[in-house]
Amino acid sequence: MESEPFEREKHVTFLEMMYRLLPHQYQTQEINRLTLAYFVVSGLDLLRALHRIDKDAVADWVLSLQARPSDSDQVNNGQFYGFYGSRSSQFSPQDDNNGASSSGISNLASTYCALAILKIIGYDLSSIDSELLLKSMRNLQQPDGSFMPIHTGAETDLRFVYCAAAICHMLGNWSGMDKERAKEYIINCQSYDGGFGLTPGAESHGGAIYCGITSLRLMGFLEEDVLSKNVSSSIVNVPLLLVWCLQRQAGDGGFQGRPNKPSDTCYAFWIASVLKILGGHKLIDQNALRGFLITCQSQYGGFSKFPGDLPDLYHSYYGFTAFSLLEEPGLNPLCVELGMTDLAAIGI
Ligand SMILES: [Zn+2]
Repeated sequence: MESEPFEREKHVTFLEMMYRLLPHQYQTQEINRLTLAYFVVSGLDLLRALHRIDKDAVADWVLSLQARPSDSDQVNNGQFYGFYGSRSSQFSPQDDNNGASSSGISNLASTYCALAILKIIGYDLSSIDSELLLKSMRNLQQPDGSFMPIHTGAETDLRFVYCAAAICHMLGNWSGMDKERAKEYIINCQSYDGGFGLTPGAESHGGAIYCGITSLRLMGFLEEDVLSKNVSSSIVNVPLLLVWCLQRQAGDGGFQGRPNKPSDTCYAFWIASVLKILGGHKLIDQNALRGFLITCQSQYGGFSKFPGDLPDLYHSYYGFTAFSLLEEPGLNPLCVELGMTDLAAIGI
């Protein structure tokens, strides 16, 4: 039977709609506005439709969210000077009435998304004031090598190690982190079953594995296609990791994030990306995976988490990345380590 097509035009229309106005259901995600914008901009680039947005306006908006100290006394106050997630998080709730405002809190995930958007639209990152950003980012690294997303009172785990590594890689400057300590932390997150947890000793999880393996790649500690080379020289247990990842492809063809969970569109990106880096993506049943993803494709454009549900921006974006990994015609190739097209990653 002929399988259903990937509805590229509908997906472009879906993202253009999100570019103009986010539906009210996204209100609770206001503080993650930069992340939502990253899904739209990177998604349009994957779909070869980046020309549909006003790149100068996008660059101006992103740059307006960069955190800066209000005076030189604040430079060494332990805060992180990255990017705010949105306009509302740019201002502190304690702002007083006489115009003196204390700054809001910028965070690592928003900073990764801001730099990724700028890189995708071709903005020259060397013109960003990155010295203070990187210097203040070191305040977020913990003695065990992990990162907090903000300068105070937050959880630390592999997600923020990835953000820090991607930020340093995009800026071409590793002064923002101690790579050796980060490497030790990542290695400590590999579990007895071959997967990685978000923290040492935590249950293995597809998203954590992506963060661990891509961070090691970006930092230069892991070779590409290690399976065709000498796996025993790798700093992680590659054979066990390979088995864990391949076993996540379920009977319906989709990928699950953990054993005994239902297949979910986004894990076709998180886990297939790791398999691509290891050189094991040839072992995926690609027809079955495509078949599952098509059942999550919405008739209105976009992808849902589970078959038949309404689409959301997050799962739509990871649906597009998954189809790019499956080499669907009409999509740009993906740089899995940075979460953007190869062309954007290279800077063409
Ligand atoms: Zn998901």
